[in-house]
Amino acid sequence: MRAAVGIGSNVGDAPATVRRAFERLAVVGTVVARSRLYRTPPWGLVDQAPFVNAAALVDTALDPRALLGALKRIELEEGRIAAVRWGPRVLDLDILTYGDVRLDDPDLTIPHARLRERAFALVPLAEIDPSFAGLRDALPPGERAAVVELGPQ
Ligand code: AMP
Repeated sequence: MRAAVGIGSNVGDAPATVRRAFERLAVVGTVVARSRLYRTPPWGLVDQAPFVNAAALVDTALDPRALLGALKRIELEEGRIAAVRWGPRVLDLDILTYGDVRLDDPDLTIPHARLRERAFALVPLAEIDPSFAGLRDALPPGERAAVVELGPQ
């Protein structure tokens, strides 16, 4: 099944963490597309570093729950590496979509619950999956403009 994975980091060398996350996604399947990297304003607390966000398309044989487990392990591995220098939470991996599957379990919602309204997820996703271009273009212009390309991967 083809899944879209959202990647985010705002601790330490966030671009390097996101690039490593692309590589680590090989453990769940074949990465068939990578978005560029985007700098996005933090949500909630303002005295947080900006996030670096990206998205990947992965062909995976894992079912959604196994995929979530594998993504959490990657988060932990990155967290452990970075915990020494920068703190506990450096990488956020989300299942944005999983084929056409819809799931509404307490611990796993697919498509991701906040996908439709979050520019930091939609802008990278629409770059690699044009079927989301319409939703991206429907974002408030200010929100979309706040998601700034960081440059090539
Ligand atoms: P957070 O790390 O704050 O993004 O929250 C992660 C938690 O959100 C996980 O432990 C999941 O149980 C839950 N969750 C629900 N839907 C999803 C999804 N589509 N992708 C990743 N995590 C999800």
